[in-house]
Amino acid sequence: MSSQSYHLPTQGSGFATGAAAGEGASGPLVSYVCGDCASKVQLSKGDIIRCHMCGHRVLYKERTKR
Ligand SMILES: [Zn+2]
Repeated sequence: MSSQSYHLPTQGSGFATGAAAGEGASGPLVSYVCGDCASKVQLSKGDIIRCHMCGHRVLYKERTKR
């Protein structure tokens, strides 16, 4: 959803761009598969390699089918 809401000029706190979506701001997401619980984990560049479900730190890059 791309609702263009007009941003009112605030007190210049540097918090104008609410980049909470994750996508686009910090690069493309890469899908990983947890080596422990095999759940899909999506990480962006610079993220800590860690499973969100079980906290396992060994993730495998998901293979893309062609
Ligand atoms: Zn896991």
